Amino acid sequence: MRKNIVAGNWKMNTTVAEGVELAREVNAAVEKASELKCEVIVGVPFTHLTAVSQVLTAVKLSAENCADHTSGAYTGEVSAPMVASTGAQYVILGHSERREYYHETNAMLKTKVDLALEAGLKVIFCCGESLAQRKDGTYFDVIKAELVESLFHLSAEQMSNIVIAYEPIWAIGTGETATSDQAEEIHAFIRQLIADKYGKQVADDTTILYGGSCKPSNAPELFAKPDIDGGLIGGASLKADSFMGIVTAF
Ligand code: PEP
Repeated sequence: MRKNIVAGNWKMNTTVAEGVELAREVNAAVEKASELKCEVIVGVPFTHLTAVSQVLTAVKLSAENCADHTSGAYTGEVSAPMVASTGAQYVILGHSERREYYHETNAMLKTKVDLALEAGLKVIFCCGESLAQRKDGTYFDVIKAELVESLFHLSAEQMSNIVIAYEPIWAIGTGETATSDQAEEIHAFIRQLIADKYGKQVADDTTILYGGSCKPSNAPELFAKPDIDGGLIGGASLKADSFMGIVTAF
């Protein structure tokens, strides 16, 4: 059966010292909390991975991206094996900010997914529509294409190392959250796509997270939906108490 997950995405925030302190606080709170109903992950900048990995005992570690090559003359890039060598277990791929500002395509993300899995990382794969796509009604097609073109070449066994994060772009960092019904509609759609391709068992075992202005006040209603298995959290993951308010929302 799938597990619930709450994952932080710190984006380009905190110095290494600040990040280690935040990771320590989250780790201590998770250690102290009894009977948590979810796995907790922090997604941190590349520069922080090694230092943060040394202070985590109860929390898993993720990078926020990796290169579409394994090694070589790609100045400034960080490969999946490099990420894995820091002690990280996960990598976030396909975040809308990467797609929009760094022109990551579904084809490029397919390569990144393959390299991440090859390196032994689990992937938190982001998908979601823009406001224009929501308004013109093409959002189901957009989300389907993102999944089909970047993930659906994988085997059923490989799919067990994929977590999907549905993140409507219009809800990221805007304070505007999808309603729990809007989110559930897409989560159920994604699960059905997986069922059509891989069968019901794989679909039932796949964790699907919601992301987009998720906070302690709206997390309980979102997480109560049958196909919402947790959250990918941006702004609210930068303070241990707000992040823990979401972690304990199940
Ligand atoms: C994100 O960037 O993944 C995200 C969900 O951001 P926020 O929670 O700040 O909307």
